Amino acid sequence: MGNNQPMKIIATVPEMQRYSEALRNSGKKIAFVPTMGYFHDGHLNLMREARKQGDCVVISIYVNPTQFGPSEDLEKYPRNFERDSKLAEEVGVDVIFFPSNAEMYPDHYQTYVTVEEVTKNLCGLSRPVHFRGVATVCAKLFNMVKPHMAIFGKKDFQQLVTIKRMVSDLNMDLQIFGLPTTRETDGLAMSSRNVYLSPEERQSALCLSLSLKKAKESYDQGERDAGRILESITNYIKGIPFTRIDYIKICDTTTMQDVSSLEKESVLALAVFVGSTRLIDNYVFGEELNIE
Ligand code: AMP
Repeated sequence: MGNNQPMKIIATVPEMQRYSEALRNSGKKIAFVPTMGYFHDGHLNLMREARKQGDCVVISIYVNPTQFGPSEDLEKYPRNFERDSKLAEEVGVDVIFFPSNAEMYPDHYQTYVTVEEVTKNLCGLSRPVHFRGVATVCAKLFNMVKPHMAIFGKKDFQQLVTIKRMVSDLNMDLQIFGLPTTRETDGLAMSSRNVYLSPEERQSALCLSLSLKKAKESYDQGERDAGRILESITNYIKGIPFTRIDYIKICDTTTMQDVSSLEKESVLALAVFVGSTRLIDNYVFGEELNIE
């Protein structure tokens, strides 16, 4: 694939499974990128990587209701299938899996995947059903698409840790890759939710990436006390208009539990409301960070 065949759109589970089974039987490596659509360059970079690594690139576009809480933005989550499919075709995607809710969660549906410890902190505190929904939909999609590898963004760091934990714990036979966060030129992490921001809020939203930069600078100067880094970032964000902090934490990247010092591999994770839009970002200490 990656040949001249037109991109396929598959909407049903049996057709997706049959298609993937045939690919597997002909020795093709399937690289999979699950998404909720409304593409930006962060999504497209995952697909470009899938194109490099797999013989066949399958993506899914599905706004998964089970990962949204009752007061969250499920209904107004941005959608544009026509634009998404054009962009996907341009980066060489072979198949878009685009199932309906009835296909994913038919009547009498009652099975969920709960990943325990790593989902309790951070986004798990303010979004209690979120990771159960994410783990469940990914497990289902893996059974439908039967990929050899699935590619996720580190932008959703706790999600990546959760999926890796699930795949390992349930002995799922695929590899999970995490790719660096794609940013706008001024540093804001790309997100489908950025379209909700007014021009003034868009300016305030830069406080997330600038916090990561400040934290990296402190770390590079030898700071290893988590409390001091958190205090300085919290004070900084509190002074930015339109913002309300959901959490600012530093966690162990394996357990996702809070740490007080940065001796082991740690991640600074932020969730901040800017107006009514909740944005997240993170930085794994010691890694590169491309923010001017
Ligand atoms: P979503 O459509 O928001 O569910 O995201 C689909 C995939 O794209 C997930 O693996 C996300 O982590 C990833 N992703 C979203 N935004 C970015 C970004 N700015 N950079 C890299 N990956 C991203």
